[in-house]
Amino acid sequence: EGGLEARLLGGLDEEQREVATTLHGPLCVLAGAGTGKTRAITHRIAYGVHTGVYSPQRLLAVTFTARAAAEMRSRLRDLGVGGVQARTFHAAALRQLQYFWPQAVGGAVPGLLEHKAQTIAESARRLRLTVDRAAIRDLASEIEWAKVSMLTPSTYLEGAAGRGEPGGLQPQTVARLFQAYEDVKVDRNLIDFEDVLLITVGILQEDPKVAATVRDQYRHFVVDEYQDVSPLQQRLLELWLGEREELCVVGDASQTIYSFTGATSAHLLEFGKRHPSAAIVRLVRDYRSTPQVVGLANALLAARRAGGPAADAKWAQPLRLIAQRPAGPEPEYAECSDDEAEAAAVARRIGELVAAGTEPKDIAVLFRTNGQSEAFEQALTAAGIGYQLRGGERFFNRREVRDGLLQLRGAARAAADDGVALPQRVRDVLSSLGYSEQAPTGSGATRERWESLAALVALADELSAARGEGFGLPEFVDELQERATAQHAPAVQGVTLASLHAAKGLEWDAVFLVGLSEGLMPISFADTPMTVDEERRLLYVGITRARVFLHLSWSLSRTPGGRAHRRPSRFLDGLRPAGSTASHARAGERRARRELKGPTVCRVCGTILSTGAERKVGRCSNCPPTYEEATFEALRAWRLEQAREADVPAFVVFTDA
Ligand code: ATP
Ligand code: MG
Repeated sequence: EGGLEARLLGGLDEEQREVATTLHGPLCVLAGAGTGKTRAITHRIAYGVHTGVYSPQRLLAVTFTARAAAEMRSRLRDLGVGGVQARTFHAAALRQLQYFWPQAVGGAVPGLLEHKAQTIAESARRLRLTVDRAAIRDLASEIEWAKVSMLTPSTYLEGAAGRGEPGGLQPQTVARLFQAYEDVKVDRNLIDFEDVLLITVGILQEDPKVAATVRDQYRHFVVDEYQDVSPLQQRLLELWLGEREELCVVGDASQTIYSFTGATSAHLLEFGKRHPSAAIVRLVRDYRSTPQVVGLANALLAARRAGGPAADAKWAQPLRLIAQRPAGPEPEYAECSDDEAEAAAVARRIGELVAAGTEPKDIAVLFRTNGQSEAFEQALTAAGIGYQLRGGERFFNRREVRDGLLQLRGAARAAADDGVALPQRVRDVLSSLGYSEQAPTGSGATRERWESLAALVALADELSAARGEGFGLPEFVDELQERATAQHAPAVQGVTLASLHAAKGLEWDAVFLVGLSEGLMPISFADTPMTVDEERRLLYVGITRARVFLHLSWSLSRTPGGRAHRRPSRFLDGLRPAGSTASHARAGERRARRELKGPTVCRVCGTILSTGAERKVGRCSNCPPTYEEATFEALRAWRLEQAREADVPAFVVFTDA
């Protein structure tokens, strides 16, 4: 039928249309950021359902985050398709586990372990080991890595060669701790996040009847963000498929950012080898971003290739993206004296964008580590700009959210539905935790608590409007529990604050990439060519989140008045306008600093002015003579002018206002 074809295929380019109409696997889409991979597979599912090739209940679409899954479901609904399962690996496995547990294992499904760090601490106590908090974090990620790599405490030593001493412990000790951790969970009848996948894999491997039922349930599989699939997820996918090849994967090796957890782009890049009959489609047109943003993203990856043999040559041949959108503003660069000044500068610039008509929900501030968000939260609060923290685990780990969930669960159990509408009941219950309709004045902990509770109230409003009459407190509590498991934080209409990892797959009109200094980007513990490469990919993911406006900033010291000890990120070398001379000067500066512990440098371009023993900031003759007196606006105009002449991205320096 012509109308339908037009609706489902009209908004796609030729290659995307090939994806959407190749309804049988194996199919692999290899393409860069913003080229419409997610859009193409969403239309493929809709097209397959409309043409009767897929029945919605028989298709499983796997996405990387619960939010991405929800977005895909809503896009499918817009295209007239309901009932498709779009889930994360974890959520899909958890559902199957709940369904098959009584038959395959017997009894009830164990509870999910919520406090991994505490459990690891307890395991260490059992072994009479002393480990501090930082070590516990290391050990938690080491155990997680081992599990998604499908290593057990007894095979850990074989697989962990060359991984150093996580948490300062010998590999043998880590293996014992790993075993103790597993024992604690068994004693408590709890399973952790990775167990959900591991146990599902185990059941599918060992119980042919369960495997047959699951394979009969799902006939077609689609996986988004396939470059970050872990060996464990890959195994699960293979078990779901059995002998079949009804699989479509899409991904971008340049966006592999979860290697540290055991994920690998090898599965994506070698898809053609594993499935010799696979159709492989490449997309190169970037529909998301302006030529300015795309240019910067291309330059960042090109700089890597120019930098000598790649540590991991596989991802080092990215497709050059070709921008489809009209030109936009030049990326802005801001060097700030300290973290507080950086946060203030970013908040001020966001204020200007909002005043000029950009909606706060179309703006994001992205950072490398969650610890960086606080300064920006404070600056935004001071500027009266609402924000939300992305990264579900943080939301559901907050004390007030956990308390809220507990109270709501209690209330749902205690009283039968007394006819009061859900939104009011949620308000009543949460008011005992300090919720009120009016936001408290000022910033800080009280305000944060209130924001969390208000997000729960807003979610109750939203869900009760969407689901209607039958959606009461018990259903709301179930929904919250499911979201907590899937780490899907409720949306708030404000500026998004998120880690670069959590920003994957998403897009905003304006993106602020903050903390772009050595030590933060790349992060200090990225000390091998491989880990530095991953940091570069992370920055690539960050840049390519922006549709129009991109702002890159860093600060030279942590605290106001502190010694300027930070340098701009090496990834910006050559991307900033001063170009090769500046990076040359910076290389010189590095050398000089090693020798003398502190030259005087021009704070505009980084050139060394004198090699005195104390690091001072000055200005060289190439930089604007009125620099010291220049207002921010005048300086910015001057810089933009220079940049236009040299045909390079603009480099704007904020002074501390
Ligand atoms: P990422 O690698 O970041 O996940 P992606 O390849 O999945 O990116 P999408 O999110 O699907 O890209 O698309 C990026 C943006 O471009 C979206 O806003 C999407 O609606 C838009 N887009 C994609 N294809 C087209 C097209 N053919 N015409 C117009 N807009 C498009
Ligand atoms: Mg995508």
